[in-house]
Amino acid sequence: MSTLSVKKVGTGFLLEYGNIRLAFDAGIKGETTLLSHSHSDHIGGLTRAAHIIATQATFDTWFARNANAFENKIILRVGDMFGQIGVNITLLNAGHVLGSTMFHLEFDDGLTVLYTGDFNNVDSFVHKAAKPVEADVLITEATYGTPEWIFPDRRGVYDNILDAATTSLDEGKIPVFNAYSLGKSQEAIALLQSGGFRVVSGNMSIDRICKVYKDHGVDLRHQSLKSINVSDILDSGAVIVSSSIKHTIETARNVLDRKTSRRLELNTERFSLSGWTLGKYSERGFPLSAHSDFQGLLEFAEAVKPRVTYVFTEKAHLFAKHLSEVGINAVPLE
Ligand SMILES: [Zn+2]
Repeated sequence: MSTLSVKKVGTGFLLEYGNIRLAFDAGIKGETTLLSHSHSDHIGGLTRAAHIIATQATFDTWFARNANAFENKIILRVGDMFGQIGVNITLLNAGHVLGSTMFHLEFDDGLTVLYTGDFNNVDSFVHKAAKPVEADVLITEATYGTPEWIFPDRRGVYDNILDAATTSLDEGKIPVFNAYSLGKSQEAIALLQSGGFRVVSGNMSIDRICKVYKDHGVDLRHQSLKSINVSDILDSGAVIVSSSIKHTIETARNVLDRKTSRRLELNTERFSLSGWTLGKYSERGFPLSAHSDFQGLLEFAEAVKPRVTYVFTEKAHLFAKHLSEVGINAVPLE
């Protein structure tokens, strides 16, 4: 059996096994990249890759935000298996953002590897939960890889977000929910519209990604800040989802009447939608995360039953320690 090597390279990793070299979430000249999703911390140097394997939605969200064309795409669906010399690659749903996948590799000699990318093990309004599959080697994220990060039940978080929107509107304020533009914003928009709110998106970057979600069949019915009647909509009571409040206010100054744009500057109630809001020094908001929490990461790793686990992201060494404590051989990739 050959020796497996996994090394951090740029925004991702290079796996080497015998003569096979595969990159995950980073472009390496002459190599094939397996792209889990298109958040900016996973797409470094992608255009250098010889080929990129990803879902259509991942390519679409990448192009929507980065305006890069890329010729050598290998477009696969969740559940598809792709064979190349020495290894079969299967895409599995990661539950993180539209089109996000994990990759399960099976080498000719039987060795199996599961790369998670970023993943969420609970269902959300717009994304289905990631499910573990067994593998000899697990390469996992550990964004929330320490025990203080246990998220409350998602339904309860949703209820709290909807209650906050109602309360702010009742007080005559404009509720603004701050969420990153790929994934979280679309979840927030879908949730708020399901609660009967009219939703205005605060940034073009959100609009561009919403278009991709809609093209892939997700029902999103928001207005852009640049829509003609948006001042009336905000006057009659609407919520804003923004990935950058600063940019939202700048755009509002240019496109809205003075009264509404001043209201947006001075009379909003702002909430951050992020797992990090659970932290001690957090911004005001709600712990809505697109990642698994500590318990989720641990249960997922246990279900994979790996002989060895490589752990990445900032808390890698801490999560590796926790895995070792429950008998899972783990190595941080830092
Ligand atoms: Zn991500």
